[in-house]
Amino acid sequence: ESKHRARNGWQHFTSELAQQQQDRLHIETQLRRAVDNEEFRLVYQPQVDLKHGRVIAAEALIRWQSRQLGELRPDVFINHAENTGDIVRIGSWVLREACRQIAQWRDAGMGLVRVAVNVSYRQFAGDDLPKRVRALLQEFNLPGSALELEFTERVLIEDAPATLRIFADLRALGIVLTIDDFGEGYSALNYLRRLPIHGLKLSQLFTEGVPHNRSDVAVCKAVAAIAHSLGLGLVAEGVESEAQRQFLLELGVPVGQGFLFSPGLPADDFARRLALPLASMT
Ligand code: C2E
Ligand code: MG
Ligand code: MG
Ligand code: MG
Repeated sequence: ESKHRARNGWQHFTSELAQQQQDRLHIETQLRRAVDNEEFRLVYQPQVDLKHGRVIAAEALIRWQSRQLGELRPDVFINHAENTGDIVRIGSWVLREACRQIAQWRDAGMGLVRVAVNVSYRQFAGDDLPKRVRALLQEFNLPGSALELEFTERVLIEDAPATLRIFADLRALGIVLTIDDFGEGYSALNYLRRLPIHGLKLSQLFTEGVPHNRSDVAVCKAVAAIAHSLGLGLVAEGVESEAQRQFLLELGVPVGQGFLFSPGLPADDFARRLALPLASMT
């Protein structure tokens, strides 16, 4: 009886594995064509100063509307794109689209909106990231300070020999450099001293639990202390409630983003949000 069940269980398991394998192949095949098929777009999530709610920058977040698979979240497909290497082409598209949008907003009289772009560790392989970014800035006639690059601690773990050089070159262009999801990875604090970065983003993993969860509170305090003592900027991700905003503000975190303020918006909606008078904002 139990043997029978076990065998059925095994069959179930193998067919589930086969299904997963097929899904993976399917996603990867579709990903390969997605740039050419123009299936990606960017949404822009406001970064606001936690005290007044003023929008001070945007984070560009990729969205994939696949003809075959429907809408997929980056959590689902970025990993695949990193495994196949397609992330390099996709990442180039993202950088270009963000620069194009900054220039379009500027030309529409909105001033320079700084846009933060997520960059995969795989885009740091090789050493042409700074060259490509410089070419884009020239093409759209943008100062480096209009662009922020967010990378995760994974970049530091890979520790490609060229990484430090790349950071220095990007910084020399005036690009703002930020460690994303800080606290989730394994950053040796040693790196923070060596890297020419400007800021940290406190992972929403920890924002989520404040002000009630004691260990999340402890981590938020520790990250804020690190940022302050090293003179780094700090942005809190995933701010969803007024209580979180108050807590972070009291901790001295100057900037936040999250659903309390706004989700990622299509470019036109972001432009309207930027133009709103402060009185009508939370
Ligand atoms: P991330 O860079 O940490 O981005 C923050 C994620 O949290 C976004 O999810 C955003 O929509 C979501 N979020 C924002 N506010 C809140 C909130 O208040 N509560 C909660 N629960 N979530 C919030 P999204 O857009 O699905 O992106 C997921 C991840 O995918 C990003 O995490 C980033 O690591 C990656 N990603 C997104 N766009 C790109 C891209 O263009 N290139 C690369 N390489 N990675 C990207
Ligand atoms: Mg990010
Ligand atoms: Mg993040
Ligand atoms: Mg995150």
